[in-house]
Amino acid sequence: MRPARVAAVRTLSPHFRLAELEGDALRNVAWTAGQKVQVSMNSGLSARTYTPMSWDADAGRTRILTFAHGDGPGSRWASGLREGDPCQFFGPRRSLDLSGLAAPVVLFGDETSFGLAAALRDSPQGADAIHVFEGSDVAELRPVLEAIGLGQATLIERTAGETHLAAAEAEALRLAASGAHFILTGKASSIQRVGRALKAAGVVSSRIKAKAYWAQGKTGWTSVFSMERFRQ
Ligand SMILES: Cc1cc2nc3c(=O)[nH]c(=O)nc-3n(C[C@H](O)[C@H](O)[C@H](O)COP(=O)(O)OP(=O)(O)OC[C@H]3O[C@@H](n4cnc5c(N)ncnc54)[C@H](O)[C@@H]3O)c2cc1C
Repeated sequence: MRPARVAAVRTLSPHFRLAELEGDALRNVAWTAGQKVQVSMNSGLSARTYTPMSWDADAGRTRILTFAHGDGPGSRWASGLREGDPCQFFGPRRSLDLSGLAAPVVLFGDETSFGLAAALRDSPQGADAIHVFEGSDVAELRPVLEAIGLGQATLIERTAGETHLAAAEAEALRLAASGAHFILTGKASSIQRVGRALKAAGVVSSRIKAKAYWAQGKTGWTSVFSMERFRQ
């Protein structure tokens, strides 16, 4: 566990907060874009996973972008964060390995993927990445993306019955035609849909990296979601 304190917290919208964590234990840490941290919740009995947007190993600082979707320990922790609060976390730990990606790179994700997108944008392999996000409230998401320098992202509003995923699939297939490499993150079932569509169109699995960040009905989701099943 690395002890840290909340150096600053900025509310970007009703559901999004940008938290800067600092501490001596964050110095001299080797971090690469795509890795995760697992933050201990206030009870200390559970943890929730977040993606560092950046890591300053000299200053001992990292930043995470939290999306409070509703009622869960992570959402409550993020909503209640105050400057000066102590916190503890595991990591950074391996999550998505972004090495080996060739341009054009496409990131498909959702509200939970904005931190990853910012980290990717600041890394050599992702500087020109194209971002496509599904989200529940596009009007809220647009200014959040602008605030973190991702205002060019394509946003697809979620619909009842997930009919919007047809638009996500179509966009992914359009981009696949130019030889894109894909990073799929966010909601497990959405990743599955888009991944299957790509595979059906002949996109080889070496061009796809996928990791589910949450799944309907699963709490504290940390499982690894690989593309193995798409290869079979
Ligand atoms: C590797 C990794 C990196 C991640 N990075 C980030 C990040 O940078 N920022 C971030 O905000 N989140 C991130 N997440 C997602 C976050 O950890 C989950 O959304 C987590 O479940 C939130 O915890 P909670 O306590 O609020 O909800 P939980 O108690 O875990 O879940 C309760 C219920 O809420 C629903 N739920 C969970 N997440 C969502 C959601 N996003 N939208 C709608 N419904 C949901 C599910 O149905 C679940 O059963 C990441 C997850 C992983 C695995």
